[in-house]
Amino acid sequence: MRPVVLYITGMMRCGSTFVGNVLNELPGAVHIGERYFLWKNAVLRDGTNTLCGCGLDLLDCEVWAKHLGGASGPDRKGAERLWDLQQRFLRTRHTAPRLAESLGRRRRPSEVDELGDAIAGIHHAVAEASGAGVVVDSSKYAADAAVLAARDDLDVRVLHIVRDPRATVTSYLAPKNYLERMSAPRTLAYWAGFNVASEVVGAAVGAAKYLRIRYEDFTRRPREVTDEIARFAGYSDANAISFDSASVVLGGNHTVTGNPDRLRHGRIEIQRHERWRDTMPLPGKLAAFAGVAPLMLRYGYR
Ligand SMILES: [Zn+2]
Repeated sequence: MRPVVLYITGMMRCGSTFVGNVLNELPGAVHIGERYFLWKNAVLRDGTNTLCGCGLDLLDCEVWAKHLGGASGPDRKGAERLWDLQQRFLRTRHTAPRLAESLGRRRRPSEVDELGDAIAGIHHAVAEASGAGVVVDSSKYAADAAVLAARDDLDVRVLHIVRDPRATVTSYLAPKNYLERMSAPRTLAYWAGFNVASEVVGAAVGAAKYLRIRYEDFTRRPREVTDEIARFAGYSDANAISFDSASVVLGGNHTVTGNPDRLRHGRIEIQRHERWRDTMPLPGKLAAFAGVAPLMLRYGYR
């Protein structure tokens, strides 16, 4: 079996947890959340939390337990090594060398092969345990996507989610217990870096394997945008998902880390999260705009 991996890239807090959980409702699709943190959270036990989106500990969840406790999953020492390698080779700043390797322009270090095998092993194990043909991975590391896209045993499609940087800045300035506060200049530098890296990977994988959406369009026209993503992932449409104009019905999911909202299910209101329009002072808006204006205009934010 060669699962489709719908790999979500973009800046953190772009709405990927919610979009992924909506896609999780497509028949034969499973959203696994920020898989990048699986080893840290589940095996090393020193990530932000050890819970699966279904509410159970990752080690007790039926989708993860077999892999993590079985021969295909790493023991503690193995997880320490893989986590360390991820940090050394798969951060966003490593996108250019990973892409050059995937395009055959430079020799790939053996550690990157080791990581690619271990990560693809997770996708295969989850596809098998859940019976899913489409695995939605919202890890958001472009270097990670570049490595996986070069593999023959996965059909990787890159879904790039863009969100208005003024909303991202506002979100990072508000203290939340699961994520650190971040200054506006730093957030904007990351926002630009993560989005440019996503586009570079998109250019490399080609138009048929890359789709960019704006989170704001998703919240305004959820059914249409979900249809577009579903077709991109190989479905004819997203008819199986129960939307009305402002809400969607979500069942359970098996996500690793991500926004605490991932634990909610049932009818969920689709929030636009555009409070920054009222609360951000004008100088803040101007500063945000000045720093990343070309990229904002490219994405249609004015
Ligand atoms: Zn679970």
